[in-house]
This record gives sequence, structure tokens and C-alpha cells, in this order.
Amino acid sequence: MTREEMRRLLLVNGSEQEELFAESRKARDLHFGSTVVLRGVIELTNVCRVNCDYCPMRRDNVRENDTYFLTADRIVEMAGLIRDSGIDVVLLQGGETPSVLPILKDAIPRIRRLYNNQVEILLNIGNLKRAQYERLRSIGATSYILKHETSDPALHLRMRHETLESRLRCMRDLQEVGFKVGTGLISDLPGQTLDSIVDDIELAGELGVDMCSVSPFIPAPNTPLSLSPVGGNELALNIIALLRLCYPQLLIPSVSALERVGSGGQSRGLDAGANVMTVNFSSATDQKRYLIYGKDRFVVTLDHVRGLVRASGLELRGSVFIDEYLMSGEPAT
Ligand code: SF4
Repeated sequence: MTREEMRRLLLVNGSEQEELFAESRKARDLHFGSTVVLRGVIELTNVCRVNCDYCPMRRDNVRENDTYFLTADRIVEMAGLIRDSGIDVVLLQGGETPSVLPILKDAIPRIRRLYNNQVEILLNIGNLKRAQYERLRSIGATSYILKHETSDPALHLRMRHETLESRLRCMRDLQEVGFKVGTGLISDLPGQTLDSIVDDIELAGELGVDMCSVSPFIPAPNTPLSLSPVGGNELALNIIALLRLCYPQLLIPSVSALERVGSGGQSRGLDAGANVMTVNFSSATDQKRYLIYGKDRFVVTLDHVRGLVRASGLELRGSVFIDEYLMSGEPAT
């Protein structure tokens, strides 16, 4: 697909958009069957050393936020709830801080034992040193999300106060260390151009990642972008469809931000070709403290996911990576 064609398709609506989505669903169903991978997420901490302009958990807010760290015991207990719900992908995510590493070193092998190794442990804990990634991989973490957020180097620096290059370096390290890697982008980020979204799509292909998410920008309170306009679901959905058409093998989540921007947004994400949904297992107290886009986030429950997947004519399934890990000989725990 040419860049010009991509630019055009990013803006389609009405019947042209429905045709785009139908093609995308066809590509998904050919590659994965009519299935949706189910994940369970545990939110480890709301402390972060990074200062992203769009995030209420940014470093400048840490002191005024009601901060928390889950203990290893609590993480394992929550992983037990995820297992009991029949979910075999445990997503451990949190702000970027090395303080979670000793906790994870304790928790990850225990989670693997809980599942008798039949588990994908997916991390989303930010930029780390290669040796730290190696250590996490050696104790049984299997996959890792590290979103590039925007492929425009100047915008990336302005929004995250970190370089795109450092992010990409971490992604390459993760791949070389043996993780399945996911990236992701924010659409309608203030200052973003349509061309840079085409770059985002091409970057996902160049990186050779296994997963890619798309989240519409949501202006959050207590951030420098609190007064910026909210992103639109339609652009985000068109990006999902284009990613699916360009790279049918990608895991693409239908994220909670789609539901937050517009009711029914996650169902439209599945219509557009997404094939992953994530159920939140944080306690009610921690859900309020984990401020991904402010306190009034949309929290995804298992019932919500089941209803939505059924209504879309799809079926839930487990990890697509576990068999591969088992064949390559995962670390004994
Ligand atoms: S988006 Fe992630 S890395 Fe950036 S401040 Fe928020 S928690 Fe930290």
C-alpha cells in the first residue's frame, strides 16, 4: 500500500470505512480465526520516573498522587484470580521505576509455578538496561510491551522528554534477548501529522514487532495537555484497520481508551480488526490510583469483554505464544 493510499484510508468514513473494516476483519480471521486473545492485567505501581506530558502519573505528579507499590504476595494472589478466570496471559504493567524489579524477581517465578508454566507473562514497565531485560527473560517473563507512542522524533522528545532513539534501542534489546515485543501509538496527539501516523504504521513493520496498540489521545487532568482537544475514535479505528491489512499477524488490542472516548468504542475496535482484550484485576482502590488518563477511566471487566466478544460473533482464546515458548524450553521454575 502506498503512503498516499494510507493517508486517504486514514480519513475514510461511512460506507468506505465499513469496507475497510470488512477487509481488515477478513485478514484477521484468515490469520487467527474469529478469535480474541484475552489478557488479565495487574497494575503494579503508579510511580514513574518519566514525565510524559499526557500522563497524570508523570514524575512531576508523583508527590501529590496517592502512590502505591503492590507486594510480590499481592501480585501472586491477583495472578491466582486471573488463572481462576481461565486467562493464561498475565500482563504486569506499571510506571517506569527500577523499584519494581526486585518485586518482579520474586513474583514472576511464583506466577509460573501457579500456572505450571502454561502462562505468558507479558510486561509493560518501560525502558530498562539490556542486562535487566535479560534477567527478566531468564526468570520467565515472555513478552514485553514498549510503545513508541509517536515515531516523530521531535514530537516524541517534546511529549516524553526522552528520545525516540532510546525507546527503539530498548525494543531492539528486547527482541534480541528473546521477548515477543509489542509497540503502540497514540493517535491525535497534539502536534501529530497524518504523515507521522503513516510513519507509525511503517515503523511497526520495520521493527518486526508481534503486537501493536492504538490509543486515541485523552487529555488528562493535572497534565500540561489537560486543555488539548480529545482525540477521535474514527482515526484510531482506521489506524487499527490499516495495521491489520499491512501486518495481518499482529496482535492488536481494542483498548479501554476507545470506550472512554465513545460508548461502544471497544466493540468498534473489534469491528476494525483488533483481536486482543484486557480485563482489569486491580482492586477498586488501586484502579482509582492508577491514573492512566485521570480518575474517570473506563475499567474493563470480564463480563464486559465476554458480552462484547459474543456480540461481535467472535470467540475468546488464550495466548498465541505459549506453545512457542514451551517448544523453545522455558526456564524451569
Ligand atoms: S505514560 Fe508511562 S512512562 Fe509516561 S509518565 Fe505515564 S506511566 Fe510514566
